[in-house]
Amino acid sequence: MSTLDFDITPNPNPVPAAEREGILADPGWGRHFTDHMVTIRYNEDAGWHDARVEPYGPIALDPASQVLHYAQELFEGLKAYRQPDGSIVTFRPYMNAARMNRSAQRMAMPEIPEDLFVRALEALVEADRDWVPTEEGYSLYLRPFMFATTRLLGVNQPARDYLFMVIASPSGLYYSGGIKPVSVWLSQNYTRAAAGGTGEAKTGGNYASSFAGQAEAVAHGCDQVVWLDAVEHRWVEEVGSMNLMFVYGSGSAARLLTPALTGTLLPGITRDSMLKLAPDLGVPAEEGKISIEEWQAGVESGEITEVFGCGTAAIISPVGEVKGADRQWRIGDGEPGEVSMRLREELIGIQYGTRPDPYGWVHRIL
Ligand SMILES: *Cc1c(COP(=O)(O)O)cnc(C)c1O
Repeated sequence: MSTLDFDITPNPNPVPAAEREGILADPGWGRHFTDHMVTIRYNEDAGWHDARVEPYGPIALDPASQVLHYAQELFEGLKAYRQPDGSIVTFRPYMNAARMNRSAQRMAMPEIPEDLFVRALEALVEADRDWVPTEEGYSLYLRPFMFATTRLLGVNQPARDYLFMVIASPSGLYYSGGIKPVSVWLSQNYTRAAAGGTGEAKTGGNYASSFAGQAEAVAHGCDQVVWLDAVEHRWVEEVGSMNLMFVYGSGSAARLLTPALTGTLLPGITRDSMLKLAPDLGVPAEEGKISIEEWQAGVESGEITEVFGCGTAAIISPVGEVKGADRQWRIGDGEPGEVSMRLREELIGIQYGTRPDPYGWVHRIL
């Protein structure tokens, strides 16, 4: 149990209510931030200390802070959802806490007590409760992150000081104007992660190194990049910053396959939830391996009927078209698939409190 109390400094100049309502009516994604933020400091001697809820704003960093040079950083992402009765919940926050600590181990950073992590989310949502949208499908995106603040350019050791923060951003529908399948590019030039690397850690460096691959996808007229394994460049791993799901068959014969967590994939909480939900909806689910050749042949034979990416932000993102240097194919008829949408509806229903939560995934905050 963490015994840290949060020192709360209300923002003396919050965004005026009318302006906030305007933002919440059309928040977009990741563009607007709430009135407060959480900061908790760590150093080797004092451990975690100095927990605060304070006005949102710039932070001062020494130019020699280790994160600016060696990218010792990690982050998490989850949402707060308004329920029909006005209360506010998050979804499986202890999964995010546990994943953050696995990322911390890989990045040689300190672990944060899971209760303190969840308390930090709760403290911020309490301070910014008016920022949790009531519009259907909208949410307050929570972004916990941690980075090295030790002033030291020595490269032989991890930092001794860290700052953990949580900021929050109201978010609208990921797809305004309906869910449209995306086109994806099979990147042969770039890889996201290799065995022994940081692929399963949620760290900013994985994103920094993926922008060139994403730009290559866009240059080929595609929305997102499909990451293949680093050795043979044929085994499918992820799409953009989402896990991938393949639907075989249809109707009562449908089943789900997702690439197994080999150490180079990010273990998504949406992925995990789909693997648990699907069988209860009559769709058996398994983790396995799929190559680009099997993907193409499966779609062409009709065996693979739907493919989608899944993650907290979009929930599901159907894949409608795949392009590579020497191959190209289409999946479905330009509309999201039936199994994809059924899984999406079920998960959203649990998150927004319109369906029962037999799994105990919903965590009440207010
Ligand atoms: C965060 C992330 C995901 C999705 O994880 P969720 O917990 O489902 O949001 C998938 N892939 C990558 C690379 C990610 O960073």
